[in-house]
Amino acid sequence: MSTKQGQQYVEKIKEHAHSLGFSLCGVTTPESPMHLEEYHKWLSDGLHADMKYMSNERARHMRANPKDIFPDCKSILVVATNYYQGELSGTSADVIPGKVARYAWGKDYHTVMKHRLQELMGFVESVVGKPVKYRLYVDTGPLLERELAQRAGLGWIGKNTMLINHNVGSWTLLAEAMLDLWLPPDEPYVVDRCGSCTFCIDACPTDAIMSEPRRIDSNKCISYLTIEHRGTISSDKRADLHDWVFGCDICQDVCPWNNRFATDEHDVDFAPVYPLPHLSPHKLLQMDQAEFSGTFSGSPVKRTKRSGLLRNASVVLGNNRDNKSIHVLADSLVEDPDPIIRAHSAWALGQIGDTRAVNLLNYAFDNEADTDVLVEIKSALEELSNQKKWQ
Ligand code: SF4
Ligand code: SF4
Repeated sequence: MSTKQGQQYVEKIKEHAHSLGFSLCGVTTPESPMHLEEYHKWLSDGLHADMKYMSNERARHMRANPKDIFPDCKSILVVATNYYQGELSGTSADVIPGKVARYAWGKDYHTVMKHRLQELMGFVESVVGKPVKYRLYVDTGPLLERELAQRAGLGWIGKNTMLINHNVGSWTLLAEAMLDLWLPPDEPYVVDRCGSCTFCIDACPTDAIMSEPRRIDSNKCISYLTIEHRGTISSDKRADLHDWVFGCDICQDVCPWNNRFATDEHDVDFAPVYPLPHLSPHKLLQMDQAEFSGTFSGSPVKRTKRSGLLRNASVVLGNNRDNKSIHVLADSLVEDPDPIIRAHSAWALGQIGDTRAVNLLNYAFDNEADTDVLVEIKSALEELSNQKKWQ
């Protein structure tokens, strides 16, 4: 294929990608990433927290050598979908809110984007007039996808480490198609349009953003703590969650590049699916496994599993310190089959700290068998005793 013919193909592919709902589309090569050294330093500094799937030997090798994932690969098509749905109304005043990151308000992006990519592959084959072998990745494969997107000309990597496009902003999800077809690559995006801005660094409530080099310390990041982290959230980090039950959007909400391009045209596949966009921590804590699975089937929220989401709901209620939450937390502490949820409900009751909470914690202490939950109950009672909050 000549370069000229390849460029004509790419033009048609991009046009079709837009008609399928991809806001951005570009082409790059399967070369080793330029930011590999920084990425390995991020891993060796332990900033990926306990996301071991990022640091295992195989994942490291594959990220360093994209061609080893798919040896026939000659080019990579990178696409981005804008999931922004505007500013939706909040919850009513008497409902304690549980915030959810915007990308998780609608259908699971893995399914939506894979379906669109499959349609795009059918179009690629029809344009070039022959079968094309490919591998599709939607946040699943060992690819450094933000760098690929930058190399494919889609945008720059901001100080908040998100890919930002000067026309679209950063409310985008990325996906890739590795093709056994050579296509002329786009020019990489070389301009850094963050300039002297530090809005995201200043707004991050946990100081998780490190400016030079641009890195996130996952150990401190609310997105990591609420979604990827399994088990107990250490007590010194629980206040950081504030009212986020799933993810965190603060460093994107404050970015001027997002505020500039707010539009009324929203992708229907990412429209909020009830009970999203806001979740009630009270209702979450009353969900058994069957209700959790039914409610969040087809939603990215299911990634936390019931254990993680209800754990987060307890923490949000503890941070909120409203004694309307006592009865829900008490039921959870005494009856929930999951010790992780019971432990965080005990902590939350300790934060609220009125006489009923103390009585309930004492009752639970006498009836609890799990050692870790007993430690949480004891520590909540000690904290309350020191502060004499309930008197
Ligand atoms: Fe900070 Fe939230 Fe951004 Fe994480 S997602 S870096 S906690 S602002
Ligand atoms: Fe860059 Fe400012 Fe956006 Fe942060 S808030 S990513 S520094 S433009």
